[in-house]
Amino acid sequence: MDLQTLALHAGYEKDSHRTMAVPIYQTTAYEFRDVEHAANLFALKELGNIYTRLNNPTTDVFEKRFAELEDGEAALAVASGMSAIFFALINVAEVGDNIICAKQLYGGSLTLCTHTLKRFGIEARFFDVHKPQQIEALIDDKTKAIFFESLTNPSIDVADIEAITTIANKHNILTIVDNTVATPILCRPFEFGADITVHSASKYTTGQGLAIGGILVERKGLVEKLKNNPKYIHFNEPDASYHGLIYTEVGLPPYTLRARLSLLRDLGAVVSPFNSWLFIQGIETLALRMREHSKNALMLAEFLESHPKVQKVNYPGLQSNPNYKNAQKYFEDGLCSGLLSFEVKNLEEATKIVNATKLYSLVVNIGDSKSIITHPASTTHQQLSHDELIACGVPEGLIRISCGLESAKDLIQDLQQALEA
Ligand code: PLP
Repeated sequence: MDLQTLALHAGYEKDSHRTMAVPIYQTTAYEFRDVEHAANLFALKELGNIYTRLNNPTTDVFEKRFAELEDGEAALAVASGMSAIFFALINVAEVGDNIICAKQLYGGSLTLCTHTLKRFGIEARFFDVHKPQQIEALIDDKTKAIFFESLTNPSIDVADIEAITTIANKHNILTIVDNTVATPILCRPFEFGADITVHSASKYTTGQGLAIGGILVERKGLVEKLKNNPKYIHFNEPDASYHGLIYTEVGLPPYTLRARLSLLRDLGAVVSPFNSWLFIQGIETLALRMREHSKNALMLAEFLESHPKVQKVNYPGLQSNPNYKNAQKYFEDGLCSGLLSFEVKNLEEATKIVNATKLYSLVVNIGDSKSIITHPASTTHQQLSHDELIACGVPEGLIRISCGLESAKDLIQDLQQALEA
């Protein structure tokens, strides 16, 4: 089925009330029929709802629908994009291990990998997303994952997914792709060999800046890569915290199962059923919106490219952009989402332009139907040093735009007056 059709129907079987809208199951817990039923659910002899920290029927629809869009086997929804990334990484890495990350990551992911994971004894090693050949030298027997963004925020680079997954597969290591900015509508990393995708649902999935949430998706057949793989012993040995369960032997998608039964159970970063419901509403129009976001962004990028005050425009849909070839290969119809950035002379110039716009809201978010302007060096990337900023492609004169669904003409006019103010 086409993605647009799946977006409207996948994962929802109407209950006895036959409601057209997916119901919001706003409940903390679920009644067991009797003691045996309760015991069977806990022992996974029967699948069903226990407690909303572990599962919820509304969230279940969100998970199933998203997994189908991504062409994955299973998904786990969590409280935020950051918790999805954290869960995805610590589901495989622990003290003494390392993960290999692209330098070009969302600022929050960079601090998570560089600083917070260090406190868990996990080392982050970095490669340039444009140089997948750097990865091999960083791999050792403690490397548990390679983590990168398909379309990077805010540097707007397009990863050569196949080049990275080929190296990872040669070494039997998992690849985790943050597919937030591209969304499953524009890019489907599993088709190019990735194992896990993570998303901030707070962006294009909700689409209107309504709620925080995250989701991780497991590709079909991942069990074969995990089974008897000495790197991933936790999937092959009995889990003492779940009465000896061996995740690769239960016949359920093992990566998602462990993230749910162990991480979500113990860390509790659960998404609320109401937010899951909002994400389901957003998904219904995701395919339509992503096309419009992409069209608007391309028109805006072309305008910026022709403006004398603009030194550089980062948008992979521009033929002049070094990511153009990858975008044509990895993105549906070459559509490149709504995120673009451009560079002006310096910090002062950038500040003047951002303050002069009227239609763009100064907000640290992306993927809203309303256009957003951000100055990463003073906000999302503020914690990074000057050198770290340069290393991850965020100079101080960089302005990021999340192009909304307003008319392209109005968006261009407002930016023009701001540049010339
Ligand atoms: N991944 C990317 C690419 C992001 O842009 C963001 C947030 O901006 C996140 C993850 C984190 O998502 P959340 O804010 O839902 O925790």
